[in-house]
Amino acid sequence: MVGKDITINERGDSAKIENEERFYEAIKRQNLSEKLSPERPYVYFTMEVYDKKNGIKGGGGLGVLAADTRRVAERFNVPFVLVTPFYPWESHQELAGGAVKDVHVNVHPEEFGFELVDTVSIKTVYSSHVPLSIYQKLLGSTRFLCMTEPDFGELYSGDGSGDHRLYQEVALGFGGYKAMKAVGVKPAIIQLNETATFFAALARLDELVYNGMDLYEAIVYVRKHTLYTNHTLVQAAESEFSFGQFQRFVFPNLRTKSLKRWIANQFQDGRLKLSSITIELAELRSGVSKLHARVANYKDLNGERIKFVPITNGIDIHEWVNPKIVQMYHDKGILNRFDIPTPDYQTKIEQLSIIELRDLKLEGRRELNKVLEGRKNQHGGTVQVPEDATLFNFKRRFVDYKRPWLPFTDVARLREILENHNAYYILSGKVHAGDFAMANRLKEILTKVEKDKILKGRVFYIEDYDEQLALALSLGADVSINNPIVGLEACGTSWEKDIANLQLLISTADGGVADETPAVYLEITGRSETDEVTSLYNNMRFAGEVMKNNEEWSRIIKDQLAAYLPVISGARMLKDYLNLLFK
Ligand SMILES: *Cc1c(COP(=O)(O)O)cnc(C)c1O
Repeated sequence: MVGKDITINERGDSAKIENEERFYEAIKRQNLSEKLSPERPYVYFTMEVYDKKNGIKGGGGLGVLAADTRRVAERFNVPFVLVTPFYPWESHQELAGGAVKDVHVNVHPEEFGFELVDTVSIKTVYSSHVPLSIYQKLLGSTRFLCMTEPDFGELYSGDGSGDHRLYQEVALGFGGYKAMKAVGVKPAIIQLNETATFFAALARLDELVYNGMDLYEAIVYVRKHTLYTNHTLVQAAESEFSFGQFQRFVFPNLRTKSLKRWIANQFQDGRLKLSSITIELAELRSGVSKLHARVANYKDLNGERIKFVPITNGIDIHEWVNPKIVQMYHDKGILNRFDIPTPDYQTKIEQLSIIELRDLKLEGRRELNKVLEGRKNQHGGTVQVPEDATLFNFKRRFVDYKRPWLPFTDVARLREILENHNAYYILSGKVHAGDFAMANRLKEILTKVEKDKILKGRVFYIEDYDEQLALALSLGADVSINNPIVGLEACGTSWEKDIANLQLLISTADGGVADETPAVYLEITGRSETDEVTSLYNNMRFAGEVMKNNEEWSRIIKDQLAAYLPVISGARMLKDYLNLLFK
């Protein structure tokens, strides 16, 4: 199927497959080389990217997904353009007297290898010329195309339905569309990463109609070439804008009366939900896990329930997994050279050596300790986790539905588990700006820890959760805790990083975790939160025991890998998107 002359660097750090046709062959889609080219690439619009190596800091999973999708496309030489804002400042989080504080840092694209390629302008009712600098960075077959200006503001600043957010979204959509033209790119297809990117589809529609295409023909064309990827479970949680806001920021950018009239007709009671209008312009719609695609309850403007195709988020394993573990997956024939599980990968996982797996975890712990040397805990000091101790970890955005407080419900039980199993607990996560309830929850957790002599020496909160810390904890911790309220996590990818890095997973059956049944991880069950807490502690106690028993430990680690490696594979995800986009 695949020629012998391909070499891929097994360490996977900088190697590229020579020819994208090899990847297309491997996924049995040779015809893609006719459908995608550098001039007609796969174009991905997103408000958020989490790729600090390339200068862009995100906020969470949606940004990590965008960055991973681009990296995987680069690895397999798929022509791909990622269009996103370059926010002139980024935020970091510190702890001051138990309270979180956001600190802003100025960033400039030229510091990260971007080059200024053009200036385009968009219009508002206030100005017929709002200039946007267009910066580009080429990376193999892919590129970043970013717009920015000094007053662009920060990622997710202000109200999600406010004027400034609408301005940012219009700048991404209309500005990004002009940027593509400026660099000579015509999209083969456009993927909209959430509805905030809707204006890219509208800009395309505007261009077709302006060039003389009949409005309804143009709508059919745009619909056929647009994929809307949804991450939000409830339509009510989506942003919506008023007709007045559209008059101020959107209509000035539309060049034909017929399109203005069509948009105006989509308003209901003077308001428009971006999700409703995105559904009208995107025939392809995807959700980010099987469960999420099933339960996301969205209706179109006629009140018909929308179907989402499930494409579960994967991760770029070369970014998120210990390179020696990735090498093992390749050497042992678990993943093929395209990072997709081989037909007999489960048998190969079965044969992995327990000693080797343990050694890889030890190496991960050393890596984690190196990163922790540069990080502050809640006391302003640093932490080192002993090599022979068990490390539990909870690392994710501090939002209500993820319940970071759950393991602290009963301090006595937590103390007993950590003490009896020579275990430590690391907690890290960003509180959203303005989320006072969660800032308080964190304060309560830290106060509980502070008051307990044992917990004080075994539970650590690490400041400024970001990619570096996420990776280090995935490498070096032993037990991952993921306890969202069932039904509220769209997918989650931290748990995928953790399974791929050989951690035991304690989780509710939610998001992408629920893709596979029956549970091979340590499942948190219970009809009430009280029952879930009991189940969580029982699983933590069990994990503590399992850590001391090589046979049992490797049994669970191998079962988790056997069940989830196909889900985790970012190459599998890219394959699924290509198959959906180019049927
Ligand atoms: C992986 C990652 C996420 C995704 O987290 P989930 O809660 O699992 O969706 C968010 N933020 C950072 C920094 C990450 O590395």
